[in-house]
Amino acid sequence: MSTWSGTRNAALTARSLRAVWHPATQMKAHETVPLIPMVSGDGPWLTDADGRRYLDAISSWWVNLFGHRAPRIVAAIRDQLDQLEHVILAGFTHEPVVALSERLSAATDGALGHAFYASDGASATEIALKMSAHYWRNAGRPGKHGFLCVEGGYHGETMGALGVTDVPLFRRAYEPLVRAAVTMPTPDWRRATPGESNAECAIRAASAVERHLAAHADEIAAIIVEPLIQCAGGMAMHDPEYLRRLRAICDRFDVHLVADEIAVGFGRTGTLFAHEQAGIRPDFLCLSKGLTGGFLPLSVVLATDRIYDAFYDDDATRGFLHSHSYTGNPLACRAALAVLDIFADDNVIAVNRRKAARFDAIAAPLASDPRIAWFRRTGMIWAFDVPSAPRGFARRFSTAALEAGALLVPLGRTVYLMPPYGVDDAEFAMIVAAAQTALDAAFTD
Ligand SMILES: *Cc1c(COP(=O)(O)O)cnc(C)c1O
Repeated sequence: MSTWSGTRNAALTARSLRAVWHPATQMKAHETVPLIPMVSGDGPWLTDADGRRYLDAISSWWVNLFGHRAPRIVAAIRDQLDQLEHVILAGFTHEPVVALSERLSAATDGALGHAFYASDGASATEIALKMSAHYWRNAGRPGKHGFLCVEGGYHGETMGALGVTDVPLFRRAYEPLVRAAVTMPTPDWRRATPGESNAECAIRAASAVERHLAAHADEIAAIIVEPLIQCAGGMAMHDPEYLRRLRAICDRFDVHLVADEIAVGFGRTGTLFAHEQAGIRPDFLCLSKGLTGGFLPLSVVLATDRIYDAFYDDDATRGFLHSHSYTGNPLACRAALAVLDIFADDNVIAVNRRKAARFDAIAAPLASDPRIAWFRRTGMIWAFDVPSAPRGFARRFSTAALEAGALLVPLGRTVYLMPPYGVDDAEFAMIVAAAQTALDAAFTD
């Protein structure tokens, strides 16, 4: 065991292992894999209890956009703390939730002008699915309550969301509890057949949806997709033509298109929202993760006028009957407003485009490593596969990356780089170097 893994605050680690049930973790694995107590964050850097610094190259599971303790977000939350920390949103309202809803509507050119809030991504998925099925019920078509999802898609892990999540590891144990959606083929461009372009691969995947709906549209309320990148399923990227086709197919068969941009929203794909690259708008847009810049739990489902109007009635049972205790929390809304201010004031999308091109050059030596396949990028997400990865690759890789000073967590045999937007060229070079070191370590016994 290296000194590195033995010196951290052992007392805190031991208390955590006794009292905290950590997420998505086989707790027994921590008998050998160290748990790292973090004490502070600053920009893209995290500092542990021993004063060691790590570059957060996965943006703390994709939530952090502008670095840890980003000053403008800190200031916005502090200011709100002196006014109102929370109030019930049923029957009451407040400036931060109104302003945020207006700004999000404007960000979709008014196409998705009705904002319904929750606190996490899985709840946003649940809301979109419930709203879609309830819409069809209100529209006099109660038989339309089934859903289509995409192979390898991830939409959260509550029981409703698991029904549209196609990641066997997360789903298998709970299969009897879940009402499964119908899974459609992935448009993942790695699945292109020889001679087929990425767009043709996407069209082939969309055609399967079309065939299914031609026979079953009467039973289907919506299809839920992760636009441009299926993140948790292994950073599977696809051509925007998929979304254009789906939009047309959904219109033709009277089926809702739910865009789950919980991971890819807020600039990750190179546009504020990923679906913009297809020149379409979904019927529902789910947002969370980056929404508050990684500060506070908040999610939102944006819906069109058409959806909203189907619920607007004298009859209470035609209303959308769903609530969360912290719906529209003012502190979280202020954090989100600060995030939108930073996008506007700092011209983040355009700056990121130039940055991504420079980062491509920095990553070139890694991209040409013979052990790597499918080195790919969309916007500010880089990913590659390691087809010959040895057993235990992800754990070995991430442990070695930490020793090299970068927080990198592969998804199985797929490694991805998803740093906060503020990283500079030197910091990105450090991430790339750590990935190279970790790759070597993972292949060495
Ligand atoms: C993370 C994620 C979710 C679930 O969000 P939670 O806040 O973890 O519940 C849903 N959809 C996508 C695409 C995600 O990446």
